[in-house]
Amino acid sequence: TPGSATVGGLLVRAAQRWPDAEALVEGTTVLSHAEAAARAAAVARRLLERGVRPGDRVALALPNGWRYAAAYGGVQLAGAVAVPVNTRFTARETEYVLDDCAARYTVVDAELAGRVPEVCPHWDVDELTAPGPDLGELPGLALAATDVANILYTSGTTGQPKGAMQTHGNLVFNAGTVGSVFGIEPADRTLVVAPMFHATGVVSQLVGFGAHGAARVFQPRFTASDMRAALAEHRITFFAGVTAMIQLMLADPGFDPADLPALRTVCFGGAPVAEAFLASAAERLPAVTFANVWGLTEATSIVTCAAGQQWRDRPWTVGRPVPGVEVAVNGDLDADPDTVGELWVRGPVVVAGYWNRSEATGETFGADGWLRTGDVGRVAADGYVQVLDRLKDMIIRGGENIYSLEVEGVLARHPAVADVAVVGVADELFGERVRAVVVPRAGQEVSLEELRAWAATGLADYKLPVELVSVAELPRNAAGKVRKKALAAAAPAASAPS
Ligand code: ATP
Repeated sequence: TPGSATVGGLLVRAAQRWPDAEALVEGTTVLSHAEAAARAAAVARRLLERGVRPGDRVALALPNGWRYAAAYGGVQLAGAVAVPVNTRFTARETEYVLDDCAARYTVVDAELAGRVPEVCPHWDVDELTAPGPDLGELPGLALAATDVANILYTSGTTGQPKGAMQTHGNLVFNAGTVGSVFGIEPADRTLVVAPMFHATGVVSQLVGFGAHGAARVFQPRFTASDMRAALAEHRITFFAGVTAMIQLMLADPGFDPADLPALRTVCFGGAPVAEAFLASAAERLPAVTFANVWGLTEATSIVTCAAGQQWRDRPWTVGRPVPGVEVAVNGDLDADPDTVGELWVRGPVVVAGYWNRSEATGETFGADGWLRTGDVGRVAADGYVQVLDRLKDMIIRGGENIYSLEVEGVLARHPAVADVAVVGVADELFGERVRAVVVPRAGQEVSLEELRAWAATGLADYKLPVELVSVAELPRNAAGKVRKKALAAAAPAASAPS
């Protein structure tokens, strides 16, 4: 019997334990765990027959769906390395990624085939995932915990995308976290609507939930009303996604919490979550446990989690590190509590480094096992972590640090503000100044004077916005992160004396 210490092993083990339970659901297509594993084994056979060898990279440029899951599982059973491609990347960016990882094949569907450059041969997903025999031999079950399972590319907001090498050990550990932190059971059903080229979808939902026998229900594209319908129709128990998705769903006039009796947990992560938003969402869905998860690709997926009463009591926190993982400011476990600095992470979640990038790997991954996350924050005496900002989004004005997230949190509570981002723009005198980019609520207006007066009750004067830009919508990437660079570049509509 195969061990379950690899991603392929988790898949095979789930098929043995819960053969008939629903595993993959998309529209009216339902695959049991046994069927899902059989499809993946058929994929593995085809890959091996065409010369794919353990350690080879196979890129997946696909929309969310059961075919994605089957292709991914096949790559894992073949012992190859899956490279989920960001399907929102331009042809140039995709070319860069496929070239960088030297993929053997790119698995595509009919639609993406036309958009994905043929750096290596395309392989049609329908052909690859058709039913068929396996080889009886699965190299993916014989790998070591230190072998690489995924290369996930960062979005490249800080230069060229970098491929984080996630090992089997990383993914198996994260699957354990999913079980211990969320208590996932075969009866659970999670909606995979966040794109599977990011860690939440592929690592925590596909692999992590699958390891516990849960059903993964796929929604290929996000629209608020489709998501609302899917949550109800598929009796989703566990939602994981970005705040913006839930925000849009709650704002949808057809939304009725009574339609979602099965929903027990709503989990946010991947981007900062405004306190004000969580409070109002919790009010509308009183039976649901809300969980704020902090994580990053370089730490596999989940690092900390604040669920239910934890964040009600401490709305500022992203929770305590999951068992087995440490978080410390600048890697100093003896630092005075509440010292503010870069959050470092240590433990089995830290990935093996960046593919092909020894310099960047050296800068981010210390020889001492600590990962420098690029987030600024603090760790309270009782272990609760606060993320104050990303280092690169922090605004430094006249030598004072301003955390854009803190200012956003205050402005988001203004009754006429539907959404807000705060960015730093160059200032001759002070180095940087604070710009607020606001999406006003429908039919309302906000002035800079009003926003400043509002913020002045909660923020020191140097943190107040000195520029205001009103927009209809904030530019976000697929992970729900606001593209702040673009916001800093536009011309301001209103400004106060700096
Ligand atoms: P790039 O570095 O190229 O921009 P990326 O940031 O999109 O890539 P991810 O690993 O998806 O890469 O994002 C991780 C980051 O998202 C964290 O470092 C943190 O800044 C932010 N983040 C994730 N979860 C939370 C959360 N719950 N609260 C606040 N910030 C979060």
